[in-house]
Amino acid sequence: MDKKIKILKGDGIGPEIVDESIKVLNKISLKYNHNFELEELLFGGASIDYYGEPLTDEVVEKCKNSDAVLLGAIGGPKWDNIDKNIRPEKGLLKIRKELELFANIRPIRLYDELSKSSPLKEEIVNKKIDFVIIRELTGGVYFGNKETKIINEVETATDTMEYNYLEIDRIGKIAFEVAMKRNKKLASVDKANVLDTSKLWRKTMHMIKEKYSDVKYEDILVDNAAMQIIKRPYDFDVMVTENMFGDILSDEASIIAGSIGMMPSASIGNKKLGLYEPIHGSAPDIAGQNIANPIGTILSVAMMLRYSFDMDLEANNIEKAVEKVISDGYRTVDIYKEGDIKVSCSEMGDIINKYI
Ligand code: NAD
Repeated sequence: MDKKIKILKGDGIGPEIVDESIKVLNKISLKYNHNFELEELLFGGASIDYYGEPLTDEVVEKCKNSDAVLLGAIGGPKWDNIDKNIRPEKGLLKIRKELELFANIRPIRLYDELSKSSPLKEEIVNKKIDFVIIRELTGGVYFGNKETKIINEVETATDTMEYNYLEIDRIGKIAFEVAMKRNKKLASVDKANVLDTSKLWRKTMHMIKEKYSDVKYEDILVDNAAMQIIKRPYDFDVMVTENMFGDILSDEASIIAGSIGMMPSASIGNKKLGLYEPIHGSAPDIAGQNIANPIGTILSVAMMLRYSFDMDLEANNIEKAVEKVISDGYRTVDIYKEGDIKVSCSEMGDIINKYI
């Protein structure tokens, strides 16, 4: 199969971890006879330094005309104090919006061998923890009207949370489809006892549910969901929620899995084109030392193959290779414990490649 992939390495550890993922893409293309055409483009701080903005329209156009985008991470102290309109994060919001990526999929998986790195109790992590959080990405309070003004001589700020039926319906359908491909369980998180947007959310989910009788469905209020993720994470299969709730719950859940360096994500829309990136940032504290964990980015490549290219076999091959490096005891410094085999970022990439 021929596929065009745009590569946005970004800043900090971005180039190091993405280089290891490129090795994986090359290995998969050789083994399964695909032709992956890779093009590197500037994004984030690197683009600010060169073009004066974090994401140029030309890069957006190139990404739109590709089959998938792989991103490392962006940002760092060098760009912390620049004009807020050209900060690196502006580039992230812009690319998600331009590519119409309204669903963010974050797998939460704790490998047995890494259970000691999880902050949860042994009796909880001894059970299999493997679920995904699907977060709505382009609506809700982050994108609603914002205003700060003086009312009755008091400075007053307003953020508006808005959702329409169509926005909820499209993310709901993605969540049910993902559940159908997994263990057919879906938890929808809202605050329907208080918020009108949540009432519409719940009503819409219940309408979609009628068409997916195989899926075991539950509604959970967001405050309860925050507790249940810690109390019984092993019970969840797929969880879907709106933008801000998803932002908070997915970060809470990610800590269960031990290291932020292990965790991939996918942002997708109605088309096959998706954006794939690890959940962590550019880790300026360890950049340039070849010690970053590349697994989150490599597993993001597996998600790219599965969601954008329908290459389940190839995706499984990468995930199995990662399982094997972990069970064989290879660890980058962030997940290293006494008795493990310590490896660098590039060594980790090489061993995963060998196991593919
Ligand atoms: P961070 O995720 O970059 O780092 C947090 C901690 O985790 C650091 O100690 C770091 O060394 C460690 N870490 C992160 N990824 C790792 C990996 N792959 N292997 C080993 N250790 C890893 O978060 P931060 O320090 O708050 O942010 C640094 C910069 O990244 C900031 O400029 C922030 O704005 C940016 N950021 C970017 C994204 C993105 O590109 N999507 C996301 C979050 C933060």
